[in-house]
Amino acid sequence: MKLKPTCREVHQLVSEGQDRDLSVVEKIRVRVHLVVCDACTTFNRQMRFLRHAMRKFEIADDVPPTSPPPPARREPE
Ligand SMILES: [Zn+2]
Repeated sequence: MKLKPTCREVHQLVSEGQDRDLSVVEKIRVRVHLVVCDACTTFNRQMRFLRHAMRKFEIADDVPPTSPPPPARREPE
């Protein structure tokens, strides 16, 4: 395993980090890369923001839904 990941690898790790805990080595590789790469820093920030937004959405989902129910299908019987 190379110590210095490519942008593509970092993007993948950041994405995977949303669903699972990254290993210490993976975290370090991402961190090190973020120090030198503005593009991935921005990407990482956006992913975090998205996750934050998703969490808020999930919490908001606990209250009664304000969205209309899915349209009822009228199937011939
Ligand atoms: Zn990068």
